[in-house]
Amino acid sequence: MTKNTYDVAVIGAGIVGLATAYTINQRFPQKKIVILEKEHAPSLHQTGRNSGVIHSGIYYRPGSLKARTCVLGVQKLYDFCKTHGVAHNRIGKVIVASDKEEEIYLQRLYERGIENNVSGIEIIDKPKLLEIEKNVNATKGIWVPITGIVDYASVCAKLAEIVKARGAKIVFKCNIKEIHTEENACILKTTQGKVIKSRYTFNCAGLNADYIAKLSGVTPQIRLIPFRGEYYKLIPQQNDLVRGLIYPVPNPQFPFLGVHLTKMIDGSVEMGPNAVLSFKKEGYRKTSFSTKDFLNIISYKGFWKFTSRHWRTGIAEYQRSFFKSAFVKSVRRLMPIITARDMVYYKAGVRAQALDHNGNLVDDFCVEKSHNVFHVLNAPSPAATASLAIAESIVTMSDLS
Ligand SMILES: Cc1cc2nc3c(=O)[nH]c(=O)nc-3n(C[C@H](O)[C@H](O)[C@H](O)COP(=O)(O)OP(=O)(O)OC[C@H]3O[C@@H](n4cnc5c(N)ncnc54)[C@H](O)[C@@H]3O)c2cc1C
Repeated sequence: MTKNTYDVAVIGAGIVGLATAYTINQRFPQKKIVILEKEHAPSLHQTGRNSGVIHSGIYYRPGSLKARTCVLGVQKLYDFCKTHGVAHNRIGKVIVASDKEEEIYLQRLYERGIENNVSGIEIIDKPKLLEIEKNVNATKGIWVPITGIVDYASVCAKLAEIVKARGAKIVFKCNIKEIHTEENACILKTTQGKVIKSRYTFNCAGLNADYIAKLSGVTPQIRLIPFRGEYYKLIPQQNDLVRGLIYPVPNPQFPFLGVHLTKMIDGSVEMGPNAVLSFKKEGYRKTSFSTKDFLNIISYKGFWKFTSRHWRTGIAEYQRSFFKSAFVKSVRRLMPIITARDMVYYKAGVRAQALDHNGNLVDDFCVEKSHNVFHVLNAPSPAATASLAIAESIVTMSDLS
């Protein structure tokens, strides 16, 4: 095998790409693996800018890939963190209803959790809720003891360290710009002039996964639409107001979980994220704009169908993005004791959410295969939690031997 020829190339050093390389390395230690990442370090996009929550699997449609890989992945992730000394905390969360209508959705969510085999969940009344979270505003809740927190960038750093120690190569500043597929191989060209040949290729390029699929000659049935999620932080003096994780009952129309309160691994408290349409895939400011990404969005008929149905929600999300008072209102619904003075703007992440031709947000994870190239085309939340289980299922699907 020549210098730039590999059995496996993984595009993207986010958590899905690194978990895929790690799993291949575990199953087939003799395979020559390269991970190609356009940035100078791993996990600089979705993975390093998320909520840091280890999800339980309660939210997802029973039988879906999300439900199966999340329930499996949560255990794999805890085991990985324990084995390799990655700081994490199985702190538990409450999902809360604040009126009778939300209580109906809460009950449905609980039943879904039971169907998905989420361990230890229970419906709790107000006194029990207040024992767990003394400042929460709610009439009823679900206690989810398996939910935890972790810094996903630390998980990625550990995955990268392990695969490198076992012989895989990680090449940073390596932006894939051309892909040619042959009968049994793939030629990858980078903007820096590198040429890499691989037998199997895994496209784990997050927000750019649909662009990469197109480069390889595939026309995906979806387009990845960027939704920015912004966070505030509590001022440190108020960190004790929150014990663990507090989530609202999600709006069943959208795959986003709603603005929530999260006690992070360092003891700070984050509030967010909202879900605002972004005009740049990897743009983290309110004014971020990319002509390529903008044209990609507005030239898609699915986008206009989606917009015609959800423009009111879209405007409300922009309001919550540009006016702190609207964001504060969402937070105070969960915890009225928090005021605007307690909250400072902190950070943003951008979700890669697939939208289909009919304007529906694609609910499940989605992987497409063409020749020996595997495209992870929709891996939004809870893909960080589920990453090790997603990797298992992609590697099994690939028939790598
Ligand atoms: C705001 C927010 C909150 C979230 N909260 C949670 C949570 O609490 N728990 C949870 O489980 N999930 C959460 N998620 C979802 C989770 O973060 C993602 O599902 C997961 O990180 C996806 O990982 P990835 O590896 O597919 O993508 P990414 O982390 O985006 O990685 C993709 C990588 O591919 C690289 N790349 C792109 N194009 C190219 C190219 N042309 N050449 C080479 N490399 C390229 C990028 O630079 C990047 O490093 C959240 C996501 C967001 C945005």
